[in-house]
Amino acid sequence: MVRGTFKLMKSVNKSTILNKIRQCEPISRAEIAKLTGITPPTVSSIVKELMDEQLVEESILGASQGGRKPTMLLLNRNEHYVIGVDAGSDSIKACVSDLVGTILVRSELPIQPHTTIDSFLAILIQAIQLVIKELGTESSKVTGIGIAMHGVVEVATGTSLYSANSGLRNVQIKEVLEDIFDLQVIVENNSRAMALGEYWFGNYGTLKSFAVINIGRGVGSGIIEDGKLRYGAQDIAGEIGHMTISLDGEKCSCGNQGCFETFVTGDAIVRRAKKQLVDAPDDLTGEKVYEYALSGQKAYQKILEETGTLIGIGIVNLIHSVNPEKIVLGGGVMKSHEFLMPSIMATIQQRALTEKARKNTLITLSRVGDDATVLGAAALLLTKLF
Ligand SMILES: [Zn+2]
Repeated sequence: MVRGTFKLMKSVNKSTILNKIRQCEPISRAEIAKLTGITPPTVSSIVKELMDEQLVEESILGASQGGRKPTMLLLNRNEHYVIGVDAGSDSIKACVSDLVGTILVRSELPIQPHTTIDSFLAILIQAIQLVIKELGTESSKVTGIGIAMHGVVEVATGTSLYSANSGLRNVQIKEVLEDIFDLQVIVENNSRAMALGEYWFGNYGTLKSFAVINIGRGVGSGIIEDGKLRYGAQDIAGEIGHMTISLDGEKCSCGNQGCFETFVTGDAIVRRAKKQLVDAPDDLTGEKVYEYALSGQKAYQKILEETGTLIGIGIVNLIHSVNPEKIVLGGGVMKSHEFLMPSIMATIQQRALTEKARKNTLITLSRVGDDATVLGAAALLLTKLF
């Protein structure tokens, strides 16, 4: 038995009202009725249920519009918490978040290279135990754990099937963690979780289709359509890091050749710089390429501009296969955005098929930033609640 599963509210009206409060808080009962078309008496009785469940509370902040101040409703920030974990290939970050994405406590532990399943799980468990411990008596308010795992994840069983970066296969994350923590656990691919974090906490309003591309040690994307993550038939929708860009390109960690990843990750940028620049230092890193570019070294600026062109080509492929309304770019490599963005945008203008796609596809940088993945992991639980 798993403790703490949210009492699932499958009433459509209840879900509509809770989401309206989340998106528009502070909001009055009358406004909810007006915006949702649900009758005022039904709004009142559902709001009472939500208050009894301590999901919603009344505020005294209502703006006076002459006469009596309306009582405003807010999400209750202090009664339900979720744990989000970003399980990357070199570190594990965990946090506890409230219903609106405020991080209350966090932990981070390194993963050794060539890790084993047992040591990976031990560190994962330790990172979660650390945030629970720091939360103290408040930890009884934690309702579940969301895990954003790098690589290919089978969501239904919560298993990490394959991770090219750490070499792990078939790690039964959900089963192990539910046993230990007695909480509901949801496991998701890290780029999809990042997309959810960005969508959930980035204040983008309602978008019909939305994609987030995560460019760091690897490349992945998450696609959200009509508010829901898209998986495909075998859970690999969005694995754009492994779309083939060049038939005879470099070998990728996945075993194929010329994958998008082999052109644009931090390591790929370093490899290209070393190949092109005879005076590149042996200990060059992606961060240093950015520093040198910032300090005005033209050769390194050119390396990043070329990288922007390559990222643009990947984005054009995503536009042609998914055609999202908006594409958000995040991950460590995008920290060099001032050198990347002009050539990314120019490539889209040159290559996207139609004028409408060139003009109307919105491309922006992540708003949620470095916490998008860990908050997206927490939001995995919130999507069950809202
Ligand atoms: Zn690949």
